[in-house]
Amino acid sequence: MAFESLTDKLQNVFRNLRGKGRLTESDVKTAMKEVKMALLEADVNFKVVKQFIKAVQERAIGADVMNGLNPGQMVIKIVNDELIKLMGSETTEIALRPGNEVTVIMMVGLQGAGKTTTTAKIAGKLKEKGRKPLLAACDVYRPAAITQLQLNGEKQGVEVFSMGDKQKPVDIAKAAIEHAKKNNFNVVILDTAGRLHIDEDMMQELTDIKDAIQVDQTILVVDAMTGQDAVNVSESFHEKVGIDGVVLTKLDGDTRGGAALSIKAISGKPILYVGMGEKLSDLEQFYPDRMASRILG
Ligand code: GDP
Repeated sequence: MAFESLTDKLQNVFRNLRGKGRLTESDVKTAMKEVKMALLEADVNFKVVKQFIKAVQERAIGADVMNGLNPGQMVIKIVNDELIKLMGSETTEIALRPGNEVTVIMMVGLQGAGKTTTTAKIAGKLKEKGRKPLLAACDVYRPAAITQLQLNGEKQGVEVFSMGDKQKPVDIAKAAIEHAKKNNFNVVILDTAGRLHIDEDMMQELTDIKDAIQVDQTILVVDAMTGQDAVNVSESFHEKVGIDGVVLTKLDGDTRGGAALSIKAISGKPILYVGMGEKLSDLEQFYPDRMASRILG
């Protein structure tokens, strides 16, 4: 389970603090050194760790804590508050156009991150909200991707628009939007092609789509198991293509979880959902406060 080791380590630090009736500045500093190690071992980005420790320490060494009745508890509360802040404080929803206006969502990400699966998962969530989504198969490089999207669409009861693998992604996207307008769909989700690594061609193709059509939301799918890489990928995609939010997949796996804590701080963009399994229902809205509670155990 994600965060297991981080939770254990943080609980150890806090257990030591709780035992003390009064906290000295040096108690706080020692505890913060241990928290720092725990976060680094959980693969949290080092810049993020540095800022986080500074923020917690500044607050924890303040007079309130020193004179507080239960200083250990106070430090835990500060760590909790700062973890929530790190993850963006609020829950961010996918912004949709009102009524029957068509919202265009472009899904982007590296191959294997879980993009095609997540596309179908999001379609299911939107359907639950009473929307009528259309999935568009714009990954023309992997014929299997089209079939996979069609199978997933069928499972979700959502139509998939495909023009095979001989057309350009931009043209498929345009045709899908036309199809949506004519047939009363109000969301189009474009499943675009991923590559094994970030490369210029992929970024160019995504920018071309954005130049040619009005994309309302660009959602990046990253794999939590890749740790720091997930954070770097988020930063690159945001710089080159521009993203509005991130879906962090495979958080059900044995990941150290650092990506969940670093993505917002590094890319500036919030996590919208987390993937919690392979089933199409395994997608959860991201709540920074619940995630912080989970981390603290
Ligand atoms: P794509 O290449 O980015 O389109 O990735 P896919 O959607 O094909 O997913 C790659 C693999 O990851 C598949 O085996 C998915 O079932 C799996 N996967 C996707 N999301 C999750 C998740 O949240 N948890 C787990 N455990 N597996 C996932």
